[in-house]
Amino acid sequence: MMNAENVLQRPTLVLNRRWTPIRTAPVQDAIGLVARGHAFIIEPESFETHDLVSWNDVSRVRARVGDALIRSPRLVLVPPEVILLTTYEGPGARAVVFSRKNLFKRDRYTCQYCGIQPGPEELTVDHVVPRSRGGVSSWENCVLACVECNKRKADRSPLQAGMKLRKAPKKPSWKSLVQVPTRDRRESWEKFLSRAYWEVELEP
Ligand SMILES: [Zn+2]
Repeated sequence: MMNAENVLQRPTLVLNRRWTPIRTAPVQDAIGLVARGHAFIIEPESFETHDLVSWNDVSRVRARVGDALIRSPRLVLVPPEVILLTTYEGPGARAVVFSRKNLFKRDRYTCQYCGIQPGPEELTVDHVVPRSRGGVSSWENCVLACVECNKRKADRSPLQAGMKLRKAPKKPSWKSLVQVPTRDRRESWEKFLSRAYWEVELEP
């Protein structure tokens, strides 16, 4: 049986107001969002939305012997598996931050010139227009390149180097960053994640 601390760290699937999965959050954070009125808990079978008080009622009916529950003086809660934000992307949501980590996600750990996936250690961040020629660090000017391609391209533009980008780099949307590792997935998430799969925008 899980202890209370583990329960609070379990992942909850976070949906935006349009029911699109945007990320996962530990149960502890998910409950905080619901408590502050920024989200509802979703009952995955019925799609009903609940606040903490009504989820408390559901939990008392649903809880089985041996279930890990979250207890406070007033509430007994089954750990939520899915929550729905009441604001579009949730409080404090910003555009996807331009970071190394997010760049790796956007380019799916793939060299944008030759298409190999040699592992994160063997990938570098390439400035399409080299910095020495005024290229800046941005979503539109940075791509992942394997060590070989980076060496070959050197301090030149792709055209000068005779190399072709597999696709034009651009700022990712929240949607394309939803990647839930299989080990973290819960059965109740599948229908929400497959919705996202069908709704995802395709490259023109
Ligand atoms: Zn390459």
